[in-house]
Amino acid sequence: MRMRRATILTALTLSIPLFTPLTSARAETVRADHQAVRSAVAEGYGGAISTVDPTATDVGLEVLRRGGNAVDAAVAAAATLGVTEPFSAGIGGGGFFVYYDARKHAVYTIDGREAAPMSMREDAFVDPATGKGYAFDEARVSGVSVGVPGTLLTWQEALRRWGTRSLGASLSPAARVADRGFPVDATFAGQISENAAPFGQFDSTSKLYLPKGEPPAVGSTFRNPDLADTYRLIARRGVEEFYRGGVARDIVSTVQHPPVAADPAVPWAHPIRPGTMSMSDLADYRVRTPAPTHSRYRGLDVYGMATPSSGGTTVGEALNILERSDLSRLPRVEALHRYLEASALAFADRNRYLGDYTSRATLEQLLSDGFAGERACLIDPAHALPKPVGPGVPDGSYGRCAKAAAGEANTQGTHTTNLTVADRWGNVVEYTLTIEQTGGNAMVVPGRGFLLNNELTDFNFTNTQAPAADPNLPGPGKRPRSSMSPTIVLADGKPYLAVGSPGGSTIITTVLQILLGRLDLGLTLPDAIAAPRASQRNTASVQAEPAFLSSPEATALQELGHAFTGTPEIGAATGIEFRRDGRMLAAAEPTRRGGGSAAVVRR
Ligand code: GLU
Repeated sequence: MRMRRATILTALTLSIPLFTPLTSARAETVRADHQAVRSAVAEGYGGAISTVDPTATDVGLEVLRRGGNAVDAAVAAAATLGVTEPFSAGIGGGGFFVYYDARKHAVYTIDGREAAPMSMREDAFVDPATGKGYAFDEARVSGVSVGVPGTLLTWQEALRRWGTRSLGASLSPAARVADRGFPVDATFAGQISENAAPFGQFDSTSKLYLPKGEPPAVGSTFRNPDLADTYRLIARRGVEEFYRGGVARDIVSTVQHPPVAADPAVPWAHPIRPGTMSMSDLADYRVRTPAPTHSRYRGLDVYGMATPSSGGTTVGEALNILERSDLSRLPRVEALHRYLEASALAFADRNRYLGDYTSRATLEQLLSDGFAGERACLIDPAHALPKPVGPGVPDGSYGRCAKAAAGEANTQGTHTTNLTVADRWGNVVEYTLTIEQTGGNAMVVPGRGFLLNNELTDFNFTNTQAPAADPNLPGPGKRPRSSMSPTIVLADGKPYLAVGSPGGSTIITTVLQILLGRLDLGLTLPDAIAAPRASQRNTASVQAEPAFLSSPEATALQELGHAFTGTPEIGAATGIEFRRDGRMLAAAEPTRRGGGSAAVVRR
């Protein structure tokens, strides 16, 4: 659920020059129908939270106010997003949780990424009739695309290790929201409209989201009593219910026998294939707790998410490349040129080397200064490299500039959600969670009120790196490569910035561009979040928002050889900056996805 000022502020965004702060964001406030006034920016003390949704922010803020810590608030807010943002995230999906522990002065992570069933084979998304990968929609809307969800176990693990409240207590505000309902806004209704065809294929999904064949009206109250019951059941019986009990049986049955409608209003062009996920796949699922990725950038410590997310490594490598030049002293166009080139180079390496099973040695090399030096020296300040660029060789022996070989492009979809929370004790959570596409695989588990993910379509369907091996092909129990990049930056060992975003593979460039804006280009955090975005993921053309495209910098970048394609919107970030005097500056999107919601405990 998002706020409703998108139309007014979209017009504003288009007319502002590049990197001009959306100062109106600070003054702008919005009255959510059922709540206090909300803003995309809030500054103060005692804890802070930023999410895309005022209801989720409100729930998290209340937990902080009542003495809960950042983890308690993050889980309660995430559970609420499962109700109000059900097309982006929920217990049917997965995500990555990054946590700064103020007592231990250390950053920890939880990998709650969905896992492939043990029966999954490398050619799971190859059509036997043609030997080619399935069309994306055919793969997505199927039982085959569903990974074993990791979200509930992420919440449980975070609460067990660092929280002060039970999972049951953390689910209860969200269950109340699901029961009482919340106002349908244009984004919520629009996401259903976009998905009318796939949602219409399944009785369970149509019943919930297309009552009378239409999305619920904007302004009406949307209730999800089945989800409220599911949350309460889990609150009573624990996660066992989801991984081994009745909910598990219903998930398996939905995957293996999709609840296809007898007579869908809109025909579907593809067969709907069943998947093979079993009860033991669910029962055997475990979260992992890998060490975060770490890189140094201009004296700061940047922590991110390790594989199977490519986020931490790719953001880290691009920063290492960028650190070779003093961007703050360069003309804006040259700084942006270097940003686009560093991102393309890092994506070439991501595509070639990163997957669930990338070796530790390769990961270390990808984040090494030597490798960054070799990659950085490919950048020509006067000309954009032809795209796609080839990957480098992270073998530990560096020194000369290797010539950029042509490589493979790789992109992915644009949906998910992100939240940032900090508490009065200085603990920080940066958490990105998803069900992959907006609407996941389009199947609501009958009687349970939540959508299943289609996360396994984040695997490459066929080898994209031939003749080299592709690190991101499907495999039994394997986790698909992600781009989610929850990032925490420390200065002198203390939190300085936390930031993350949805947006498929643009997540990486969004986080990178926000860091660049804040750390090098002199923008405040809200302005770095509001600034027009451009995303170069090693493709022939850079995707850019309208306000970026209409800037003088875009013209100058074109003269350097960058090609651009317009896209209405990239990402929907949230973040918190920690001031030296103890104040926290929470920031959300002023306009993208209808605007987000930032709040602090005490102004
Ligand atoms: N599935 C994507 C990933 O893990 C996130 C979904 C999105 O934001 O589009 O990178």
